[in-house]
Amino acid sequence: MSANNPRLFDTHAHLDFPQFAGDRNLLLSAMRDQGVCALNVGVDLPSSRASLALAREHPHVFAACGIHPHEAKTADAAALAELRELLKGGAVAVGECGLDFYRDLSPRPKQIEVFRAQLRLARELDLPVVLHERAAWPEFVQVLREEGPVRGVLHAFAGDLARAQEALALGLYLGIGGPVTYPKNAALREALRRVPPARVLLETDCPYLPPQPFRGQRNDPLKVRYVAKALARLWGRPLEEVAELTAANARKFLGVTP
Ligand SMILES: [Zn+2]
Repeated sequence: MSANNPRLFDTHAHLDFPQFAGDRNLLLSAMRDQGVCALNVGVDLPSSRASLALAREHPHVFAACGIHPHEAKTADAAALAELRELLKGGAVAVGECGLDFYRDLSPRPKQIEVFRAQLRLARELDLPVVLHERAAWPEFVQVLREEGPVRGVLHAFAGDLARAQEALALGLYLGIGGPVTYPKNAALREALRRVPPARVLLETDCPYLPPQPFRGQRNDPLKVRYVAKALARLWGRPLEEVAELTAANARKFLGVTP
């Protein structure tokens, strides 16, 4: 299987993180051989640069450049200007960006300001957005509404049907990862039975959030197959069909044609 006919698309990976320092190239080769594409997602300027470097070297890897709400406190005007240049240098998406009032690692007004700035960059450059939201839903929705329609994916979605419907009404895709396999997430699985498959993207958030058989271990893009398996069970469809469908969703969302 070549990168020209990907069987699976992990729309949220952090392959530049130090957890992959020892075997990054092996993993990238295995992904290529198994037809697994990935969007590598930046969380700050250095990781956004690293994402672009990975994408330049590997045809089955694409880059998103952005500033995570945890890092919003570091994002001054110069940082946002550099982000804009990085985005123009080959990125296919903005992100990850959004609001995280759970860990509150940046002041909330600063998170909102940096989130707005990135939504504006996405609109200016006509790029989709990888969205992070935790414990900030009302404010998150308000910012999205005020900044206007956005082609976005709600990364690491783990909500119930009501939340899924709100996200779909905002025009967002749902990014589904390892948590769909966790025993406690029955409400998420119930929601996913009822959402349009055309609005679902697969992801790993590796090195984090491994699927159930790998809890406590490092996650990686090859394990996105377990997410596809879980959805295949929920939707009563063959695994290959779910893989192809969600990979096509990812290519459409990102505007890429590998
Ligand atoms: Zn992430």
